[in-house]
Amino acid sequence: METKYIFVTGGVVSSLGKGIISASLACLLKARGFRVTIQKFDPYINIDPGTLNPYEHGECYVTVDGHEADLDLGHYERFTNVQTTRANNVTTGRIYQSVIDKERRGDYLGKTVQIIPHITDEIKRNVKRLGKTGDYDFIITEIGGTVGDIESLPYLESVRQLRWELGDNALCVHLTYVPYLKAAKELKTKPTQHSVKQLQEVGIQPDILVLRTEREVPTGMLRKIAQFCNVDVDAVVQSIDRPSIYEVPIAMHEQHLDEIVCRKMDVPVNGEPHMAPWMHFLEKMHNATEEVTIGLVGKYVELQDAYKSINESLFQAATYNDRRLKLVYIHSEKLDNSNVDEKLRDMDGVIIAPGFGQRGIEGKFVALKWCREHDIPTFGICLGMQCMVIEFARNVLGLPDANSTEMNPNAADNVIDLMEEQKSISNMGGTMRLGAYECTLLPDSITASAYGSTDIKERHRHRFEFNNDYRSRFEAAGMRCVGENPATHLVEVVEIPGKRWWVGTQYHPEYTSTVLNPNPLFLSFIRAAIAYGEERNIENAATK
Ligand code: GLN
Repeated sequence: METKYIFVTGGVVSSLGKGIISASLACLLKARGFRVTIQKFDPYINIDPGTLNPYEHGECYVTVDGHEADLDLGHYERFTNVQTTRANNVTTGRIYQSVIDKERRGDYLGKTVQIIPHITDEIKRNVKRLGKTGDYDFIITEIGGTVGDIESLPYLESVRQLRWELGDNALCVHLTYVPYLKAAKELKTKPTQHSVKQLQEVGIQPDILVLRTEREVPTGMLRKIAQFCNVDVDAVVQSIDRPSIYEVPIAMHEQHLDEIVCRKMDVPVNGEPHMAPWMHFLEKMHNATEEVTIGLVGKYVELQDAYKSINESLFQAATYNDRRLKLVYIHSEKLDNSNVDEKLRDMDGVIIAPGFGQRGIEGKFVALKWCREHDIPTFGICLGMQCMVIEFARNVLGLPDANSTEMNPNAADNVIDLMEEQKSISNMGGTMRLGAYECTLLPDSITASAYGSTDIKERHRHRFEFNNDYRSRFEAAGMRCVGENPATHLVEVVEIPGKRWWVGTQYHPEYTSTVLNPNPLFLSFIRAAIAYGEERNIENAATK
């Protein structure tokens, strides 16, 4: 079949969940046996979100080929189980960079270089890039931003042109918001009408409308919207707030979104999508009654999206272990010896979060010392793993000045240090150790038994590394380097044997955890946390 292109735009307000709707549609099409991928086009000028701080844009997701990507790519992978790459995330910065490079090379043969056609052609070329591989039946393209933004205009113009060129092989899904006005006790359709009108003004007629709403939109109102917006009545679907994002594919399927898409694109619909494994997950999610309590120690805990992939990985792992996840955010800047006991004593397990820079770092050491001494299942990720190493050096190896070169380049013992290759790099963007690297695990480690393998591949995003000069001292004192890169011997995983569960990974296991394929290390961590919680329950019962 010819590659079909679905464009997803958004109107009225931002944060409507275009990413979740795109991912849900992809999930359903995939469950119908189609080969699907999703790409995100972001209208900002940054080349990629790698240099944006989490306050600006939430988590930075990392693809297998080392692209620092928009967090929506994380949703795409979690919902579809299909890996994305650099080609799945394009920004205005990248479009312009490529056009300007071409101009400097003389590729435009003396023409005046303009938004139309040069920028739009570059956008279109990028939209079709994955389609040209022949690997996909459906390419879903999410256009970042909101219709009406100045920055989105070149993208919308490209969508308009592509729809014209591709005919039935292109389709536009527009996501809008239907607010409920409490004072009037009414849902309001006017913002939707206006945003569709704005889309029509730039020459795009949406084929399908998805209405994001907090309350059920009555049929009469759906009809009215369809009529005013030139859209078929059955192609107006609603997306009511759900307790979990993982219910959205089912809600979309109940309203036949996947069938409508196929029908409109002349793709035969055979039977039902194979959603049984997904339903199995949802069933576990709904049936879980008991909790597992995990403390996440980090400095961005007030931000909903800063640790998105970790939250989702924990949630998936808890669900598969038949538990509800109770995630307690613990601000590392506010943690000290006077309050650590009170903040951590009810945790079944503790995660020490990734991060950059000095702020909040001392609180992570306080948490780690307490967890190590109280033998709490503890999981350090990236900076969290580096903190495990530093804390151990300070308090067990007796190196009080131990540190990471990132925090203090002149510390007496930089047990976390810059790699030789990194020393000459001065640019910030895209220069870290990024993407998937192989790791060989010791067979008798917790990590190897979690994965059921000694050869794994996980994704990285960091500059600093365990300093191998100290390795034998760590091992002699009881911290084992159980995972290393087979080519470079860089340490990837540390453990303290004899503890309930003490694992630090230089890589980010959260980037590979999906609904249908949860990350084994998170599953193992949650199992250890549950076991520890049960142990404490028995102890508490005995002392009562
Ligand atoms: N700041 C650390 C480094 O660059 C860790 C990065 C991270 O946690 N992602 O090595």
